[in-house]
Amino acid sequence: MPSGIKISSELEAKILELRSQGKTHIKIASELGISGSPIRRILNPEAHEKIISKLRTGPSKFQGREIPLEVKAGAIKLREQGKSYGEIRSELFIGRKAMQRIFDPEARERAEERQRQLRATTARVEINGKKVRVKVDREKPRPKACELCHKEAKRFGLNWHHWEDTNPGIGLWLCNFPCHGFVEGVDVGLKAEDYLRLKDQANRGGLK
Ligand SMILES: [Zn+2]
Repeated sequence: MPSGIKISSELEAKILELRSQGKTHIKIASELGISGSPIRRILNPEAHEKIISKLRTGPSKFQGREIPLEVKAGAIKLREQGKSYGEIRSELFIGRKAMQRIFDPEARERAEERQRQLRATTARVEINGKKVRVKVDREKPRPKACELCHKEAKRFGLNWHHWEDTNPGIGLWLCNFPCHGFVEGVDVGLKAEDYLRLKDQANRGGLK
């Protein structure tokens, strides 16, 4: 059975009967005093599912603009009548985000705040070839600048560098370039002295 409102077998029989009399969806809706959604569900379940799944996943048709007052009022009225959020969405053809804007406008702010918290106190690291998110030292939330070169990093420019997979919460926030790459090299045995020696060699014997 497709998702949405529960339709009694009595109502279903009535819809089918009116349809067999050649009546249109709109006519049936007005005769039974119901919205078009349950009728579509009974008479054309495939189309209904398509619309519902679009509502579930598609971007809001009100994205980037005000939700019309009549839509807001309609949604609130249906809610007062005891309809579920799912029912309201399928009756008014509005998406999850638009519903959130009508019934819980601060939800997005709360979600963004949670995201900020998560970014400040956790980091994505690779352990045994798997990318995982780990809690980092709580005393040391994500700083603005690299802890090694002190260069201010853009929002995504810092990497959490850890050295023990058994304790990945201990580490340093390092800029992507050059510090993180360099330090990773040191940790796998490429010594800083080797680098400096090679650099010196290159300087002395390099292109003339
Ligand atoms: Zn750095």
